[in-house]
Amino acid sequence: MAREVFDELKARVALLRERGIKPGLATVVVGDNAASRVYIRNKMKACADVGLHAEVHELPAESSVDAVLAKVRELNASPVIHGVIVQLPLPRAIDARRVLQSIATEKDVDGFNWANLGALVDGHPRLVPCTPLGVMNMLERARIPIEGRHAVVIGRSSVVGKPLALMLIAGGATVTVCNSKTPDLAAFTRAADILVAAAGRPKLVTADMVKQGAVVIDVGINRQPDGKLVGDVDYGPVSAKAAAISPVPGGVGRMTVAMLVANTVTAAERAGA
Ligand code: NAD
Repeated sequence: MAREVFDELKARVALLRERGIKPGLATVVVGDNAASRVYIRNKMKACADVGLHAEVHELPAESSVDAVLAKVRELNASPVIHGVIVQLPLPRAIDARRVLQSIATEKDVDGFNWANLGALVDGHPRLVPCTPLGVMNMLERARIPIEGRHAVVIGRSSVVGKPLALMLIAGGATVTVCNSKTPDLAAFTRAADILVAAAGRPKLVTADMVKQGAVVIDVGINRQPDGKLVGDVDYGPVSAKAAAISPVPGGVGRMTVAMLVANTVTAAERAGA
């Protein structure tokens, strides 16, 4: 599916190129973090594959919030940059909310700006967060109907669970959003036609928690002590019951990167319109 997305994006990039526009993505990184480095490498590679211009701006871990804000301002004003992202997590001393809100709304390709989140709440999305967009895209490409179905989302973060719930609502699903305080999680998950796990808890979803024939999407990424990555779903036994299931790794993560590139291309198209 990610490959399909990339092929479609290449065609859109070619059209932009005819108009003299090359979509550009800038990533701001503050300090050093091993996981972030892997994510950034994947994003840069995806940008290069599709024909985007991509740059990474590395700032020292001890940077002041003003220095980070100044960097974002510079990128907001750059004519060759259409998308700006700030890699999370930021060092503790930096107010992440303030930094994310400083990204120009039309360049906010992570979709974390309040203006963009507000547009999503209002049912008129502009740029939306990449991971939930990737989940929706997967459902669409797998021709899984949403309207009239019961979708259960485990997790209510602003990055994944909450925006995903809004997108599912917009698609006509009946949506239940669970969190770590939900009593008897299994009672909810067993009622799901579409179950999305985004809790960050390895093997939280076991086969007895899933209805026969349900669609299961695993957003979780958990590193095991042996270095292996696993999702939130006990993949083997659950896949025996599910009508469709996404793996970790190689599932939502790939779509997330594809959606980041898609958002950047969309931003470039709008800038050039
Ligand atoms: P988060 O920690 O901000 O939120 C986790 C949510 O899960 C919270 O709302 C919490 O209440 C809920 N939760 C935790 N334990 C629970 C439990 N036992 N039962 C029910 N709910 C529970 O995390 P996040 O940023 O939303 O990310 C969630 C997971 O998705 C993480 O594993 C993260 O690495 C992964 N993730 C993957 C991608 C991707 O590209 N595939 C992108 C973003 C996040």
